[in-house]
Amino acid sequence: MSSQTFPVVWTERHRLHDPGGEVWVGVPIPGTEVIARGDLIRAALAKAGFPIVDPAAHDPSHLHRVHDPAMVDYLRTAYNNWVAAGYPEDPGQDRVVPYVFPLPQAVVDRPFRLPAAPSARAGVYTTDTTTLIGPGTYAAALSAADCALTAAEMALRGAGAVYAACRPPGHHAGRAFFGGSCYLNNAALAAQALRDGGMDRVALVDLDAHHGNGTQDIFYDRADVLYSSVHVDPGAGWFPHFVGFADEAGRGPGEGANLNCPVAPGCGDGPWLEAVATLGAAVAAHRPEALVVSLGVDGAAGDPESPLGISPDGFRRAAETLAGLYLPTIFVQEGGYDLDRLGGLVVGTLSAFASAGGHR
Ligand SMILES: [Zn+2]
Repeated sequence: MSSQTFPVVWTERHRLHDPGGEVWVGVPIPGTEVIARGDLIRAALAKAGFPIVDPAAHDPSHLHRVHDPAMVDYLRTAYNNWVAAGYPEDPGQDRVVPYVFPLPQAVVDRPFRLPAAPSARAGVYTTDTTTLIGPGTYAAALSAADCALTAAEMALRGAGAVYAACRPPGHHAGRAFFGGSCYLNNAALAAQALRDGGMDRVALVDLDAHHGNGTQDIFYDRADVLYSSVHVDPGAGWFPHFVGFADEAGRGPGEGANLNCPVAPGCGDGPWLEAVATLGAAVAAHRPEALVVSLGVDGAAGDPESPLGISPDGFRRAAETLAGLYLPTIFVQEGGYDLDRLGGLVVGTLSAFASAGGHR
């Protein structure tokens, strides 16, 4: 392993998850969270000399540290129940996709009942119609969680930096909901594993173009794990739309341990890097023993899923800022959908972190 690299945890089991497209505004579209993403990232990292290791398998009970066991059980069983109900034949939908949602204001003051129909159950835990479940979705999501948990274990054993090449991504998955192409929250699982491994304080920095509403949800009431994020302003019309605003600062004991830095569509490197510096200062003030970075590169110029227009050099400079914190660091892959640039963006960011000495 050269001094300019660090270990990558990756598994081919990500290929088990083929979302088969999305349903957006009622229309089936091809979607951008595709199998090729996981393979392109691996190929670029291998070519750049990063050593690639397999994840260890973990008991699903690890998932219950950050997720409602009932949601995990739903994810495990949803596809088989969907097929058993005959939806692939009639009406002809071979992926689990909801059509009704139990909005809080519509079911208030009533004991929650899991609906009998699998078509209705599909709306209980997901926020949207763009996060479909296929035959291998749960297995792939478990393997992505394994990558993040393995990276955390390597950090607990003394690794200075590890990259978990997670697919499907995770930061839109909360304690009892999933959505935005995410099923299990890989970054939150890594952060919790660091806590459970004996680290008293942990910080998360989320560089994905979109707010990590799932990660924020999981840690919103806690002072031990700082969640901080730079993302396109949901108030300007961007996913996840309902949360991710600057006035969301945490609750109860978690007050002050949640930092959202929304930036304007089209902002480019300048304002984005200023926000990254603000996140870095907040991390330093939190005095964590380790850092988990939700590394989405969908903020890059040309990405089909965001309007931020960040340059490859912007990502390198963000990595240098994080390297300057001199913390054991786990990078967890989130978004990034420009297949021509995805591999280069990830390699460029991780290499800049290593070159700046962040992994030692
Ligand atoms: Zn994103």
